[in-house]
Amino acid sequence: MVKRAFKYRFYPSPEQAAELARTFGCVRLVYNMALQARTEAWTLRQERVNYNATSAMLTAWKKTEELAFLNEVSSVPLQQALRHLQVAFTNFFAKRARYPTFKSRKRSRRSAEYTTSAFRWRDGRLTLAKRDAPLGIVWSRPLPEGASPSTVTVSQDSAGRWFVSLLCEDRVEPVPATGVVGVDAGLDSLLTLSTGEKITNPKHERRDRAALARAQRNLARKEKGSANRAKARLKVARVHARITDRRRDHLHKLSTRLVRENQTIVIEDLTARNMLRNHNLARAVSDAAWRQFRTMLEYKTEWHGRTLVVVDRWFPSSKLCSACGALAARMPLHVRSWTCRCRQTHDRDVNAARNILAEGLSVIACGGGVRPQRESSRTRRSPMKQEPQRATAGIPAFRRGEDVNGPPSRRAGCPGGVLPA
Ligand SMILES: [Zn+2]
Repeated sequence: MVKRAFKYRFYPSPEQAAELARTFGCVRLVYNMALQARTEAWTLRQERVNYNATSAMLTAWKKTEELAFLNEVSSVPLQQALRHLQVAFTNFFAKRARYPTFKSRKRSRRSAEYTTSAFRWRDGRLTLAKRDAPLGIVWSRPLPEGASPSTVTVSQDSAGRWFVSLLCEDRVEPVPATGVVGVDAGLDSLLTLSTGEKITNPKHERRDRAALARAQRNLARKEKGSANRAKARLKVARVHARITDRRRDHLHKLSTRLVRENQTIVIEDLTARNMLRNHNLARAVSDAAWRQFRTMLEYKTEWHGRTLVVVDRWFPSSKLCSACGALAARMPLHVRSWTCRCRQTHDRDVNAARNILAEGLSVIACGGGVRPQRESSRTRRSPMKQEPQRATAGIPAFRRGEDVNGPPSRRAGCPGGVLPA
């Protein structure tokens, strides 16, 4: 049994929409006030304020005249906002994330989380606390038989669409698989597999992206604060939503297929690259897709009892010959294929994917940390996170000054380990 979120669109009545908008506003306010209180306590008095303390603050705020309106919405989403802040701080103190930032009215995701005490689930109808009518959910796919949600998250995206996500227990049927595969993230093709298969971007993406650029230019021409500007912004948000929806759908199909076919999947940790600020649109989009893809692989491999290996980012996957292990001197990005001294000609990305697979298999043979340790995929991670996993095993021989023309250098990192064939 695994916990699984099922997300649906819904169409609120005008009253429900107003009530939810008010709830989102209160959630944001409580989150920001608690963040401010915690920041001040630390900077002024070097005191750490924990979740319980912020919870007591919330109770006090509700009693004041100017914040009495907090009582008008369900109290659970407000408490959950404090819990989310606590998680953000825990991640910050563990050096997994940056310092929490204030939620913005325009930029932040509008959402509210309800636990079982704050909603009613009866005969497949969901009613939130303080409401009489159930939500008008469009059941685009059925919930698992007999499922009953333990947490409900309501949100609205920047294109104005409403979503409800239901966290349910679901049964996963074990399906045996024997395959092993290495995956390389690319720019030209979305992903390249060690089998030689190249997976391209979703079909409509190029056209959608052109439409996005057009909508953005149009927005830039509109006068600030005008009604036309608001309209143009919504147009941009809609195109954006279409792109991310199609991409997510594409990545879900891919990750499901890979997990179904393979027992072991090896990917590269691109955290360091992702941390760099990037103004290249294509690169930014591909990085976002990669993060999303990795998260999907993480939970799907967990569900199906598969092994996901994340090889470290120092590994020179593009420069290493996957046939003989020789290391090429330089490999600028425009080089799409190259021939090694051993006369093997490589497609750059396929070669990288093969190296990633071999590296991953040697990690398993060495008994290194196999499953990546990431408690929450929602939080941004710093590159420090993955390091303790493998102290030296991933350092290829050439870094230690050994003969790079010897046996494949990745094997040198494995003390007495025998590589699986
Ligand atoms: Zn070679």
